[in-house]
Amino acid sequence: MDQTDQTAARTEQATTGSGSFNVVNPATQEMVGSYPVHTAEDVAAVVAQARNAQRWWEALGFEGRKPYLRRWLRWLALHCDEVYEMGHRETARPRADVQFELYAGLEDARWAAAHAKRVLRRRWVAPGIAMMNFDARLSYHPLGVVGVITPWNAPVYLTLSGMAAALAAGNAVVIKPSELSPGSAIITIEAFRRANPDAPAGLTAWITGFGETGAALCTSRVDKVAFTGSAPTGRRVMAACAQNLTPVVLELGGKDATIVAADADLDAAAAGVVWGGLFNGGQACVGVERVYVVESVRDEFLAKVRKHTGEIAVGVEELSAYGPMTVDAQVDIVRRHIGDALEAGAHALVGGVESIRPPFIDPIVLVDVPEDCSAVQEETFGPVLVINTVPDIDEAVRRANGTAFGLGSSVYSARRGPAIASRLRAGGTTINSVLTFVGMSSIPFGGVGESGFGRFHGDAGLREFSYAKSTTRKRFDLGKDLQSFPRTPDQFDVVRKTLRLRYGRSFH
Ligand code: NAD
Repeated sequence: MDQTDQTAARTEQATTGSGSFNVVNPATQEMVGSYPVHTAEDVAAVVAQARNAQRWWEALGFEGRKPYLRRWLRWLALHCDEVYEMGHRETARPRADVQFELYAGLEDARWAAAHAKRVLRRRWVAPGIAMMNFDARLSYHPLGVVGVITPWNAPVYLTLSGMAAALAAGNAVVIKPSELSPGSAIITIEAFRRANPDAPAGLTAWITGFGETGAALCTSRVDKVAFTGSAPTGRRVMAACAQNLTPVVLELGGKDATIVAADADLDAAAAGVVWGGLFNGGQACVGVERVYVVESVRDEFLAKVRKHTGEIAVGVEELSAYGPMTVDAQVDIVRRHIGDALEAGAHALVGGVESIRPPFIDPIVLVDVPEDCSAVQEETFGPVLVINTVPDIDEAVRRANGTAFGLGSSVYSARRGPAIASRLRAGGTTINSVLTFVGMSSIPFGGVGESGFGRFHGDAGLREFSYAKSTTRKRFDLGKDLQSFPRTPDQFDVVRKTLRLRYGRSFH
């Protein structure tokens, strides 16, 4: 979508003219676009319109909604160059990074469209022996309007993924993209209407602005907020949603660890952690930030990591490994983490403070970093790998589980992968590769601890945007109803006998 189209799309939405903000390319300082700052009144108007549109969308049912979702995805696939171009201009990331996002997002969205009916349709449930004269049905219903708040680091993927699950479950969506990368998110959202001109206005709406606009969405009485971003903002989102008891799903930051066992394929492990730590410039919630390698293979592993990082070209070209830091503040965080670690006795295996040449940061690999350093305990969100040596797997697991986060993790081991994986406190673990739990649309994705709660993707991700409803129906009388007065001595006696028969013996 070109700038004129975007402006046209924007003016179709209600704004009170409360100002605008500019987005500039972090590498070239080129002006990329200007977007409105939506106020609480604007947000209320957009949510009201979405609520009207949702009734029409819900009434279509699963089969009726599917073609709309498919046409949306087709439009995006056919106009992928527009998405790459905007994603590249507003964050200066290589087009290949934006392509990766779009591909993963389309996969998630296709899965949600294809599986919504299977996961959410009405089904028969066993009523249990005490209610054997009843029929029981479980059904899942749309919540209504879902507010989706997204961060800047994967605007296309997170928009597509969150929006598709909410829509497939029968909801309308109001999306608040990050103020740093709204353009590619807006193309993704507007694509739905472009592919489906007959869909009512407001079914897939967006609002732009800063934290205040996001906060207004939280208190706008939407029926759920799906928030992806940092843990501190997540806390604010939850507090704001509490005002109206609006439910939330929080997908927050991470400090993902990889364990490299003595029987690991060290070539695969080195290639995996270098890619997992550095893709998107390390600006990924599920990026590998820490590695625990068993002592006996340490030297060989470090040599391989050094070789792989030596092959990395940082820049803005189409096939550059990764681009600049999108946010200045992130450069300061990386500088602080490196400085703290080196001061505490860590060594730089690759790069160092001199690798920081804003807005770019060349790969940095630190070894032997004390576990209480910020580079081990806090999310760095930059192209920095911390590699620490451990005597054995027990110590590796203990340290991997030693931060407040619990998003992703990985293990390299020829024989013990599943056993080690089961001990890691994280929403996902990949064995003998990295990050693949995120790319599989059929399994849930989300965190524990400071990494948040609730799930995207998979059956759980569709149920996240629905409420469960239980419907029971009496099929025949079974003597005197327990659900009616007066109580009788007979009834008391029958229940007493049943209770003793059912629970008063040992059972397995
Ligand atoms: P952020 O928390 O600063 O902002 C995220 C979004 O929240 C933005 O749209 C922002 O405008 C909005 N916002 C800010 N204040 C708000 C408020 N008070 N109420 C409502 N909305 C508000 O995060 P960021 O810097 O854009 O993104 C980076 C963070 O996101 C990292 O911590 C990263 O790990 C995390 N992240 C998590 C996942 C995941 O799936 N778990 C995915 C990508 C990024």
